[in-house]
Amino acid sequence: MRKRTYKIAALAGDGIGPEVVREALKVLSTVEDKFGFHLEVNEAPVGWSGIDETGKALPDNTLELCRASDSILFGSVGLPDRDASIPKEERPERAALLALRKEFGLFANLRPVRLPSELAHACPLKAERQGDGIDMLVVRELTGGMYFGQPKTTETLDNGENRAIDTMIYSTSEIERIAHVAFQSAQLRRKHVMSIDKANVLENGVLWRDVVTQVASGYPEVTLEHMFVDNAAMQFLLKPTQFDVVLCENMFGDILSDEAAALAGSLGMLPSASLGVTSGEKTFGFYEPAGGTAPDIAGKNLANPIAQILSAAMMLRHSFGENDAAAAIDNAVGAVIAQGLRTGDIFNSQDANARQVGTTEMGDAISEAIST
Ligand code: NAD
Repeated sequence: MRKRTYKIAALAGDGIGPEVVREALKVLSTVEDKFGFHLEVNEAPVGWSGIDETGKALPDNTLELCRASDSILFGSVGLPDRDASIPKEERPERAALLALRKEFGLFANLRPVRLPSELAHACPLKAERQGDGIDMLVVRELTGGMYFGQPKTTETLDNGENRAIDTMIYSTSEIERIAHVAFQSAQLRRKHVMSIDKANVLENGVLWRDVVTQVASGYPEVTLEHMFVDNAAMQFLLKPTQFDVVLCENMFGDILSDEAAALAGSLGMLPSASLGVTSGEKTFGFYEPAGGTAPDIAGKNLANPIAQILSAAMMLRHSFGENDAAAAIDNAVGAVIAQGLRTGDIFNSQDANARQVGTTEMGDAISEAIST
């Protein structure tokens, strides 16, 4: 019988990208053997590695490869020292990241934020605010709102002053489809959705609240609450354990998901998935760690590969339906953390059980935990 085969475009990018993507590919090849499917992995340049090879942050061949693949495993792009040397529309984050989101209609961004009890020290909140552990999923709309709305321009007025314009736009269908993702995710979790808006000030907020409330009626087992974004920013710090699924429009989600990330102690622990429309059984997805290229630690074997490895697990689950393999990766990460293995970002010298390791050793340990 022919093995189930999935095509992955692996775009490592810049900074720590190549180091952490290498570890994720190592882990994927371990589960591939164990769970009896085949991953056809093709690597291609993106970001500054794309510019250096072809002059473009998203080279034509890289885009073609993505189109011919079932999913993208992405590292990260951008180098602060070099970004300013080229026009902003050619810079890696705009020219590659935003372009790929648009190209593949990646409208739903999922960021699970978990703080395992062994890493309580890495959380900036006091122990009593952490309760029995923080475990939330931020569902962010990714292709609409202020980041894409037109007009988007800077113009010079008659008096010589500059004026910048960004436009926030959402239609009913855009809100509906992201709300469905949130409610479906909540069905598999603790069955609670907190929808974030600014309905007291923004027209967009009023529409957002109406549409989300209508969608909720199709999910009677899920409880819906609404919260203004300014209060949500505060509640994340005061009582993060009240959140299960947090549903946000694009800009609010961008900001709140980074705030939530801080609760987990390190960007190096946080995976993400960006999903397009499901067609038949297939959901094209783009999987990347929450952090950036971390130039301060790049090339030193210091980066935490766990965010990238958990992103690969999300790919197996959301795009390929390989739930057992995904769970094996999640469990292996939990096991090495319980064993005390720590990269520098999550190391606590006060913890007698903790042992500091490098990027490669962490990837090896996770692979080994899967095979045994
Ligand atoms: P960053 O996320 O790269 O780094 C912030 C801090 O977190 C640094 O101290 C870094 O060492 C640490 N960190 C991040 N990932 C880590 C990991 N896996 N292990 C251990 N520590 C980790 O953010 P920044 O410094 O603001 O940005 C650096 C570059 O990355 C910029 O050019 C920015 O534009 C780009 N960036 C790209 C993406 C992306 O490709 N999706 C996202 C964010 C930033």
